[in-house]
Amino acid sequence: MQYRNAQAIIDLDAVKQNILTLKKQLPKQTKILAVVKADGYGHGAVAVAKKALASGAAGLCVAILEEAVSLREAGIKAPILVMGYTDPSYVGIAERLDIQLTAFQCEWLEEAKRHLEHSVSLHIKLDTGMGRLGLRDVDDVRLFLEALNLSCFKVTGAFTHFAKADTADTAYYVKQDRRFRELIEPIKHIYKDTIMYHTGNSAASMQFPTDMYDAVRFGIGLYGLYPSPHLKEHPPFTLVPALSITTQLVHVKRLNKGEKLSYGLTYETKETEWIGTIPIGYGDGIQRRMQDFEVLIGGKRQPIVGRVCMDQCMVKLDKAYPVGEKVTFVGKDHREVITLEEVAEHLNTINYEVSCLLTPRLPRHYLNEDE
Ligand SMILES: *Cc1c(COP(=O)(O)O)cnc(C)c1O
Repeated sequence: MQYRNAQAIIDLDAVKQNILTLKKQLPKQTKILAVVKADGYGHGAVAVAKKALASGAAGLCVAILEEAVSLREAGIKAPILVMGYTDPSYVGIAERLDIQLTAFQCEWLEEAKRHLEHSVSLHIKLDTGMGRLGLRDVDDVRLFLEALNLSCFKVTGAFTHFAKADTADTAYYVKQDRRFRELIEPIKHIYKDTIMYHTGNSAASMQFPTDMYDAVRFGIGLYGLYPSPHLKEHPPFTLVPALSITTQLVHVKRLNKGEKLSYGLTYETKETEWIGTIPIGYGDGIQRRMQDFEVLIGGKRQPIVGRVCMDQCMVKLDKAYPVGEKVTFVGKDHREVITLEEVAEHLNTINYEVSCLLTPRLPRHYLNEDE
């Protein structure tokens, strides 16, 4: 039950539009895997996953086993890949729920096989220059393939991840792609084209859609957010943002000149001012550094003044508004819009982090949930 009037609104029709738009750019054989890790980048993994699948995504990617399990518990039957490291003692869970795991260590295979009934499906991870997870040279790939030669491991994919595919300078992308081709050679020799080869995140799939092998792992773009400022300024195609955050004024008062407000008294009125209070704060993921940023009220930008509290914050209003007036943190109000990218820039971070940091206390409302 929701009693408060503060919510993240997720328009799932935007998710659908973003999938359809990307699909048009990709060759027919290149599938879209929807990345819904970190609770769908804060948007809600289950609702986004269902919409993405209904809109043409071929499967899902998550970071950790728990995330895959909760998608299965929600009744989702599509292929799911866990892209991060899974402790080998839990491979039995992946086996039972038909979840694909990522592997890249011979010792891991040794340990994993002791926890399997029959077999588990694996994607081989190759490190072509991200320096995070994966096999880094051809000899190691060969050794790994030998260790894999057991009936309990069913290889269904091989992939890598780009460290820098989101800028105008594409040299490192090209280098990583070339390295990928070298590293998959021994894999191709054994598995031919029976497994799925994939490299691209949102940035790579936007910039190089025709080089994306068998699938892309579409994350940030799925939510209508751009992978980088460069891609926001030079978008190969337009994305539709799914998220808005709205609340309402719960208190409005007039303060005299020279009055102070909120913790630490960091704000003092410069004249007679209308000040509104809104029931949202850092306990919802609206970070303290949002102080001095803006919200939309009555289609106009109005500054957040004083410290952001855990549950509330204050806004300087251009005039008296009634209690209940709509307040928009992210999204559109009349002709004005505040994008998550703009918020991220103010917070000196990236849009990915801002939506991930929305806490479970902020209710998620879904629009266009049903196909
Ligand atoms: C998070 C992640 C993605 C998705 O990246 P976006 O930039 O959000 O598209 C793809 N692959 C891996 C391995 C990831 O960790």
